[in-house]
Amino acid sequence: MSLLEVDDVKITYRMPNRDVHAVNNVSFSIDEGDNYGLVGESGSGKSTVAKAVLGLLDDNGEIRSGSIRFDGRELIDLSERDWRSVRWEEISYIPQSAMDSLDPVMTVGAQIRQAIRKHRNVSKATANERVAEVFEMVGLDPARTGDYPHQFSGGMRQRVTIAMALALDPDLIIADEPTTGLDVIVQDKIIDKLLEIQEKTGSSLLLITHDVGVVAETCDEVSVLYGGKVMEQGNTDEVFRAPTNPYSMGLKNAFPEVDEFDEQAISIPGSLPDLTREPTGCVFRNRCPFATEECGERHPPLVETDGQLSACHYTDRADEMREQAKDPET
Ligand code: ATP
Ligand code: MG
Repeated sequence: MSLLEVDDVKITYRMPNRDVHAVNNVSFSIDEGDNYGLVGESGSGKSTVAKAVLGLLDDNGEIRSGSIRFDGRELIDLSERDWRSVRWEEISYIPQSAMDSLDPVMTVGAQIRQAIRKHRNVSKATANERVAEVFEMVGLDPARTGDYPHQFSGGMRQRVTIAMALALDPDLIIADEPTTGLDVIVQDKIIDKLLEIQEKTGSSLLLITHDVGVVAETCDEVSVLYGGKVMEQGNTDEVFRAPTNPYSMGLKNAFPEVDEFDEQAISIPGSLPDLTREPTGCVFRNRCPFATEECGERHPPLVETDGQLSACHYTDRADEMREQAKDPET
């Protein structure tokens, strides 16, 4: 049994005229102690998945079907009371843009202490000890717990949000775009810190990002999302060394530093599909350089190819597509 099992989950947002089909039949699982990546461009459904796992979907969001189990326990339809023992205690969260949403009028130490005391019946002194401990874990000076958010740089504020996520010693940390908006050197430091902590505490990490480079550096396994669908899934090295899905090929090429791929490789022009319609054919077909009529008729199921799962009707031509994707002139 995996620690987290997301199974065939469908999530829609109700809108006045039409529903938005944000997540469509997504499945993945995370083992204890593993680092798992969810990667995809803006609007692909990454944060929606994260929020569903935490029971924090927006009010108009609804899990239509599927199951989300944590440590064997079904999380969908958990009562708000039961959520309290799961959220932060077992699964904690570094929300997207967390570093910008710290309370400006409260010291960072008090914010973390408050989070601890909401869940644990401990004295202020004991909570303060834990605050100092998690400060040290994330590489912040415990003497600065009395400072306000504006007294920290962006990278340091992000360390504060990581410290907050660690405070109750969770088994799974979900980090939604934890390095976005930080400069590259700071990004690397944050990722190194997350990995160091993850190794030390033995917790699992679900890392959400649009940056293939970050996933490649950090995660053992990955799901590539597009239009609310898993396009490719498997071991990160395999998926980005030899992608078998045209979308992952394009996504990887957008981050040429990931490896030897050449830079004039295909990009993926165009924008996300209209999510107000339930997808029928392949969600990527309008942008896919290899799409055929068949792609408009049936959505390709995830099938295993070379050890990874890929949703494409033409995975048997993956080698050929990769060659062409590298050099669109041929
Ligand atoms: P980003 O990289 O920009 O954070 P994402 O992959 O996290 O994107 P989501 O935020 O999960 O994407 O959004 C998936 C889709 O659902 C998008 O089309 C988005 O506009 C839509 N969406 C998100 N929240 C709502 C909401 N509350 N109501 C309606 N639509 C929503
Ligand atoms: Mg998001």
